[in-house]
Amino acid sequence: MRKTDGVHRRLTVAALLALLALVGCASTHAPPVDPHNIILFIGDGMGVSHVTAARVESGSLNMERLTTGGFLATHAVGSFVTDSAASGTAIATGESTVNGAISVSPAGAPLKTVLEYAEENGMATGLAVTCSITHATPAVFVAHVPDRSDDVLIAEHIAAGGVDVLFGGGLGYFLPASALGSLRKDDRNLIYEMEGEMTIVRTEEEFNELLGRDRSDGERVAGLFYRAHPPVEYERAPSLARLTAGALDILAGDEDGFFLMVEGSQIDWAGHENNSDWIIAETLDFDAAVGIGMDFAERDGRTLVVVTSDHETGGYAVLDGSVAEHRVSRTGFTTGGHSASMVPLLAYGPGSSHLGGIHDNTFLGNALIEHVRSVAR
Ligand SMILES: [Zn+2]
Repeated sequence: MRKTDGVHRRLTVAALLALLALVGCASTHAPPVDPHNIILFIGDGMGVSHVTAARVESGSLNMERLTTGGFLATHAVGSFVTDSAASGTAIATGESTVNGAISVSPAGAPLKTVLEYAEENGMATGLAVTCSITHATPAVFVAHVPDRSDDVLIAEHIAAGGVDVLFGGGLGYFLPASALGSLRKDDRNLIYEMEGEMTIVRTEEEFNELLGRDRSDGERVAGLFYRAHPPVEYERAPSLARLTAGALDILAGDEDGFFLMVEGSQIDWAGHENNSDWIIAETLDFDAAVGIGMDFAERDGRTLVVVTSDHETGGYAVLDGSVAEHRVSRTGFTTGGHSASMVPLLAYGPGSSHLGGIHDNTFLGNALIEHVRSVAR
């Protein structure tokens, strides 16, 4: 018995050592699950056909560099077809709500957003968009307002929100009624209120100057380049890709990591217009920004990149063309509004592997919140 016991003990010790070696191996060599940084790209209104048409015309997309994929279902509370406010809220907070609601519950209670969790966890935060910064998709990350059309109130929430980088249009909502170009009816000057804390740039020249100079640690920047919405893709300056590069340049200086949301806002408007050429131009403009994000993530190795959409717009279908000639020749639309079709979900980097598959849009919001709450330092 004694001898057998000894063998037993030696075997048990050997097994334990082997197990410890395995565990040690796993913790030393497995890639980190939690990212240090997150870049979330939202192509507003971008369904599978929008991506298809852009890929045919360009030959390839930066979106193809993302390595995990799936679909998000987009239904809202009480509405089969969502709007950008409800679906944006789902992505920003992990909670479904009613159409029109900006990160509040159907009863009007504020819902905490991934950007707010990121701020709470010491991360730097940013929003870069091709619409007014007060529009639904950027608004859901920082404002809590029952009515998406209340741009004036949304601007006040944004001005008080503590976001480190704000790039887009909508300057008029931040200017007092007495100022040229104001879209407010009161005398609050949100630019003045923010200027103590934020560097404000209004032109491409000022934007370039800002990026070319040394900035103080933690310098916060608002680039509001247009009175309301920026113009279409070929008239916009700086481009969304430039805004993305600028935002990354500023945010990457934060040693606690960052959360950046980049929106291709006007893919949706092109879908509402049932304008296939405009859809393709805006989707490629968005894809160029995705390329900037992927260049950063591939270099950095600690950045989760997610590309998705809030809903499909246009009931858009690609019906004929030539892959060899990079040409889409026949398309169709089934609506001037949104459809209920699922939207693409693409991901790359640490934390991306469990995002694959088919999910409700709230799944993405909850996954992002989980990541920023346990972000790798
Ligand atoms: Zn829309």
